[in-house]
Amino acid sequence: MKLFIRFIFLFSLLFSFSCETGTDKNSTSSNEEKEEINLPKNIIFMVGDGMGLTQITAGMIGNNNELNLEEFKHIGLIKTGSTSGLITDSAAGATAFSTGKKTYNGAIGVDADTTSIENILEIAGNGNYATGIIATSSITHATPASFYAHQPSRSMDEAIAMDMLSAPVDFFIGGGKDFFSKREDELNLLDSLSAKGFRVYDDVDSISGPFEDKIAAFIAAKQPESILEGRKDILPRATKKALDYFSDKENFFLQIEGSQIDWAGHANDSEGIIAEMIDFDQAIGEVLEFAKKDGNTLVIITADHETGGYSILGGDDEGNIEGAFSTDYHTATMVPVFAYGPGAENFKGIYENTAIFDKMLELLKR
Ligand SMILES: [Zn+2]
Repeated sequence: MKLFIRFIFLFSLLFSFSCETGTDKNSTSSNEEKEEINLPKNIIFMVGDGMGLTQITAGMIGNNNELNLEEFKHIGLIKTGSTSGLITDSAAGATAFSTGKKTYNGAIGVDADTTSIENILEIAGNGNYATGIIATSSITHATPASFYAHQPSRSMDEAIAMDMLSAPVDFFIGGGKDFFSKREDELNLLDSLSAKGFRVYDDVDSISGPFEDKIAAFIAAKQPESILEGRKDILPRATKKALDYFSDKENFFLQIEGSQIDWAGHANDSEGIIAEMIDFDQAIGEVLEFAKKDGNTLVIITADHETGGYSILGGDDEGNIEGAFSTDYHTATMVPVFAYGPGAENFKGIYENTAIFDKMLELLKR
């Protein structure tokens, strides 16, 4: 028996040696293969709208001085300006991420001349990726819209909703049901979604497998409530559902937005910022747990801009902070980028917001 084991050991040593030699002989092709192998299987791109460093700090202080975000080791900064000037809005910011082009404030997936530009979700979805979008705003709101729609103005919610019917989206959760069903043109886009193979839900918990169909879930008629108004943990639960949905897909691209960090910033509401920030971080926790188990998922988290010119002037270790604001709009300050998983190191450094698209595109399997 001992002899037999020794024989197996020798044989496997020889075998691994011959494999290595084989690799050396074809070093060019094996390098190409290696590059292929290093591309992540899945990409999850998360945006905390209006999430500057102070918003993150406030969320951390309000959450016993810790966030899931701290597990990200590859960190960068982006310059957020649009063609309208130093101060971007969410539409131009999200269009920069989704298309790699700077555009004017209010533009959804179109360039400065209002020409449509193919976005990263469309490139992935028209390839072999399953795709999804989740937001705590209306699904027609600026950030989610820039990943499936092409319209000259963010205010065109009904036209944006119509664009969902021609987009390669397999799964979405957000508010804005009325833009699909109570429209000026009296069309019922919920029927159109069903005809396109979507199962349409009115809440997150009813979504269940098997997951051969596409999924649409509306969490509000227009804009969902804030956390302080009682939205509860819809975002982390929606994120978990999405990860269940996508877990058996070959490749997926998923965009998730914590939409209301921005709105609390506009309202100069520290308590609201902390609550929305912790909620977004809980969604990050779900994503991280999935990415760690999967081992082949790239997670990128950033913000479109900072909101409020927010600063922390004091507070205590009970989680209370004394916040101060210099504006009720956005600011030009750079915002952080956090990355985890294969390709995460590409997101270090200081660069334009449009480079987020370039870096994701480079890591997409095509
Ligand atoms: Zn805003």
